[in-house]
Amino acid sequence: MDDLIKIPEGNPKTIKVNFMKRFSFIAILALLVLGLLPSCQPKEEPQEPAKAVNVIYLIGDGMALPQVYAAMLASGDEMTFSQFPYIGVVDTRSASNDITDSAAGGTALASDHRTKNGMVGMNPDSIPVKTVLEALKEQGKETGIVVSCYVTHATPAVFYAKEPKRSNYENIALQLAETDNVNLIIGGGRKHFNQREDSLNLIERMENELGWKVYDTLADIDETCKKYAVLANDDHMPKAAERGDFLPRAVKTALRTLDSAANGFFLMVEGSQIDFACHANDSTWMMDEMLDFDYAVQVALDYAKEKGNTLVVVTADHETGGLTFPDKQGNYTNVSFAYSSGSHTSLPVLVYAYGPGAELFTGWMQNKGIKAKIMNACGLENISDSIVENPKRFKAVKKNLDSNPNN
Ligand SMILES: [Zn+2]
Repeated sequence: MDDLIKIPEGNPKTIKVNFMKRFSFIAILALLVLGLLPSCQPKEEPQEPAKAVNVIYLIGDGMALPQVYAAMLASGDEMTFSQFPYIGVVDTRSASNDITDSAAGGTALASDHRTKNGMVGMNPDSIPVKTVLEALKEQGKETGIVVSCYVTHATPAVFYAKEPKRSNYENIALQLAETDNVNLIIGGGRKHFNQREDSLNLIERMENELGWKVYDTLADIDETCKKYAVLANDDHMPKAAERGDFLPRAVKTALRTLDSAANGFFLMVEGSQIDFACHANDSTWMMDEMLDFDYAVQVALDYAKEKGNTLVVVTADHETGGLTFPDKQGNYTNVSFAYSSGSHTSLPVLVYAYGPGAELFTGWMQNKGIKAKIMNACGLENISDSIVENPKRFKAVKKNLDSNPNN
């Protein structure tokens, strides 16, 4: 080794040769080290991302960012879902209107098809579309629906029924009774089953011919039963202040039943009356509904944390009320709640996700892109492109901006 370290005298060729020898030695040593290193470490196989076995899809009807922020302002606390690790933005338009109703908004959230306002589970040409509940049922998962409105109301109906008019409640009730896709359903709207214009007692038919157990209250049910409906009120359920913890308790009940599903489950939960309260511009009612919905999300999150295989997705069909937070004196200090509408608005909503596949729910997406993401989180389908459905409209806006040098 000495001859490599010693500065050679005379012939520059010798210097070059010695340098080359030294370089080769270092290079071989380096290659050896590099070659050996990986074999000294445990081999890391590229890991497949975990797939969701169960999905809990919670929809706050009428709940955009203002409703969430209002609840945070009033309670002085975060919402359970505002702390979820992945959050995205959802454009809520329908195929017919820039402002969606709950039927078209729900159909998009359930099936990835935008339709005309008022239509349930069909595309604009009245062709039935497959919902995420139906697709996951086909894959062997059990399914449930828990709401605080009629079980036949637009949001729950879009997951199991196909009906051109959302107000055809008795047809929707009949479709629920006859479907094999729903294992359990909990909510109000009993009158659409036993006080019908066609005089049919659908509850008797469900129990005697169609394999259902039908209950009036959560307290009575046999949670091991594989097909049940809890119709807990003739009408919608009472307001949150009067119905107590019905919604979170119903979610707990549903999860106890679905927990035994051999291939996992899909559960849709709706905080139905956030929308009702915002239509009425009633902030106290809205706050009660928001906190009730958040409690339901907490029940879902607790289950997901315990199991580790459950995707929880929280979103909304649209904003209701045009809620905003001005200081009416204009001095930036006294935040008040102000409503600009008694109806729905076009404000985009947020989507919040936790669990396997939650990372898919970020960025700007359309209401018709969420089913594909849920299927993908379950390892069952590739993500569909979330393309802009009406590019002309965006181009027109851009052109206006370009032609105005002040913009
Ligand atoms: Zn709605």
